[in-house]
Amino acid sequence: CGIFAYLNYLTPKSRQEVLDLLVTGLKRLEYRGYDSTGVAIDSPDNKNIVMVKRTGKVKVLEEAIQEHFSGGDYSEPVLTHIGIAHTRWATHGVPCERNSHPHRSDDGNGFVVVHNGIITNYNDVKTFLAKRGYEFESDTDTEVFAKLVHHLWKTHPTYSFRELVEQAILQVEGAFAIAVKSKHFPGECVASRRSSPLLVGIKTKTRLATDHIPILYGKDDKKQSLDQDADSGKPQEIRPHGQSRELPVLPRSESTSEF
Ligand code: GLU
Repeated sequence: CGIFAYLNYLTPKSRQEVLDLLVTGLKRLEYRGYDSTGVAIDSPDNKNIVMVKRTGKVKVLEEAIQEHFSGGDYSEPVLTHIGIAHTRWATHGVPCERNSHPHRSDDGNGFVVVHNGIITNYNDVKTFLAKRGYEFESDTDTEVFAKLVHHLWKTHPTYSFRELVEQAILQVEGAFAIAVKSKHFPGECVASRRSSPLLVGIKTKTRLATDHIPILYGKDDKKQSLDQDADSGKPQEIRPHGQSRELPVLPRSESTSEF
């Protein structure tokens, strides 16, 4: 299983090209084992996020993508485009299209998430969100994350995308790598990890471009060579897990009866 995200911002690329890159990324992850796959990109009018998911091999997804995105609208080049993709190896919920990633925050696809790993306190988070009117459409632990980000977005309208994901991360337990895309924050992608590996590759004309890529680290994560700036060997800015401002959303590690 694995996640793959692609943020295009240097030269215009069509949605079809972005999708090709996502499929290539998923093929590279195939060796890790998986049971289902999925991708998310923006609709041609940028008003929605389109997801395609399939059980089975990446090849099956590739064919579905060709069918789904064959129209001319998808060959139009755009400067900034973010696609996220997933190969799933089910831990919570049987392998089926409904449980395949990306998972969404709401039926307007406000936030969509791909996730590798396990959110161990997902039941507590689910109970918290269900009491606030959220309905769940999958049996996965992942879906609670998308909906938690949405809840934070509604209750904290001034938060940036990065802050929303960061605060959601503070509420969940487990080991994971995650990438989030949002209709409300076009041109941005937020990725994070705790204990699981997450590689970030940056192709850039200037080193300043790294400023656009938020990388969050889990509390127990050790800095790896990937955190090093390729040119200077100096570590990039790191904001450790647990050091951002506290948000009284969910009491962490407390029993469900607390909610
Ligand atoms: N726990 C998630 C699920 O069951 C992600 C599994 C994975 O790492 O692929 O959907």
